[in-house]
Amino acid sequence: MARVLIVGAGPTGSLCAALLRRELPQRPLRIVLWDKARGAGGRMTTSRSPHNPRCTADLGAQYITLRPAYAQKHQSFYEDLLAHGVLKPLTAPVEGMVMEEGSHNFVTPQGISSIVKHYLTESAGADVFYEHHVTQIYLRGGKWEVCKKTGSPEQFDIVVLTIPVPQILQLQGDIVNKMKNALLSVDALLLGRSYYRGDALYYNERQNLIKESQKQQLESVSYSSRFALGLFYEAGTWIDVPWAAQYITNNPCIRFISIDNKKRNIESSEFGPSVVVHTSVPFGTAHLEWDKEKVQPIILDHLENIMPGLPKPTSIKCQKWRYSQVTKAIPSCPGQMTLHIKPLLVCGGDGFTHSNFDGCIDSAICIVEALKTNL
Ligand code: FAD
Repeated sequence: MARVLIVGAGPTGSLCAALLRRELPQRPLRIVLWDKARGAGGRMTTSRSPHNPRCTADLGAQYITLRPAYAQKHQSFYEDLLAHGVLKPLTAPVEGMVMEEGSHNFVTPQGISSIVKHYLTESAGADVFYEHHVTQIYLRGGKWEVCKKTGSPEQFDIVVLTIPVPQILQLQGDIVNKMKNALLSVDALLLGRSYYRGDALYYNERQNLIKESQKQQLESVSYSSRFALGLFYEAGTWIDVPWAAQYITNNPCIRFISIDNKKRNIESSEFGPSVVVHTSVPFGTAHLEWDKEKVQPIILDHLENIMPGLPKPTSIKCQKWRYSQVTKAIPSCPGQMTLHIKPLLVCGGDGFTHSNFDGCIDSAICIVEALKTNL
């Protein structure tokens, strides 16, 4: 049974797993997902209050926008999520939102990570492991040997990387950074005619790894950076504003505020409200190398100016999004890039399309097509 490793349990990785199950039901594939985080979601993450797990906040993606360009192409994906109650139309007021004519916004009553959890459920039988941080990938005897920060390396027939592109480039081993050194040292051996059969095999395997042109394309991808705060309140707290979310245009730090439960149309006497604050990209870029602990009070000061009298939360979570949204994708947005064919190594994610749910769907479809072609 071929072992397929999908690295990244965000929307692209989880949808890949679900599509592989749906489209290749007859293929005996063992699908394994590894993610370095403690739970599913990626940048579609939902955080819980440490005091009440039912009080949640979406710290990354806020809502899903279906644009007219995708209405037909992705209709079945939206219908499926609506039928399962994962998506509901956004009805709460969002001030300052700019909407393309004919587009529709959706929220996720159970939090944005419920999209990813839905696809993990649909991937029936895929084994999902969290706190599995991939560090190196080697080619060994026609298979990929994948190393993680802790625990033993494991071998896979196929590897799919759905992590942000700069994190692909940070991986060590045969696949990216060490490639030139490996080639140079083997070239030296070949020139000195001191190689034996094992070295020749080593050379043959390595000369087909990532091409320089692909590496250059990967290096051209860029992302914006920002910080997010989640403020969690105790049951019964009332946040008295007429909007559910608001885009802020006149503050040097804050770009977006949402009363997160109100945005998702969830109110209950059993858990308190939550507030999400996103900083602007210039603020995120300027403070990117600062500790979260130092940035959090600055954001809270600005929030106090915008919303004086906001009640005191029971807990706060600060998230640094170093790779927030794609500002420059791989040229011509191919959806995936096949780095190696035998064994197969494919990468995808929003860096290969664009930073929203439709971009992730497109990428997952392209990855699965590449797998079907080369299986
Ligand atoms: P990710 O979601 O980043 O998933 C990649 C996963 O890989 C992560 O879980 C990560 O932990 C894991 N990983 C990384 N490196 C490793 C490693 N070495 N080993 C193991 N695991 C690893 N989109 C919308 O549609 N609507 C919005 O309103 C919206 N707003 C956004 C607001 C913010 C602040 C941010 C940050 C994003 C927003 N987006 C929005 C974009 C959307 O979240 C992304 O496009 C989407 O999450 C990309 O999915 P992905 O699966 O390709 O990557």
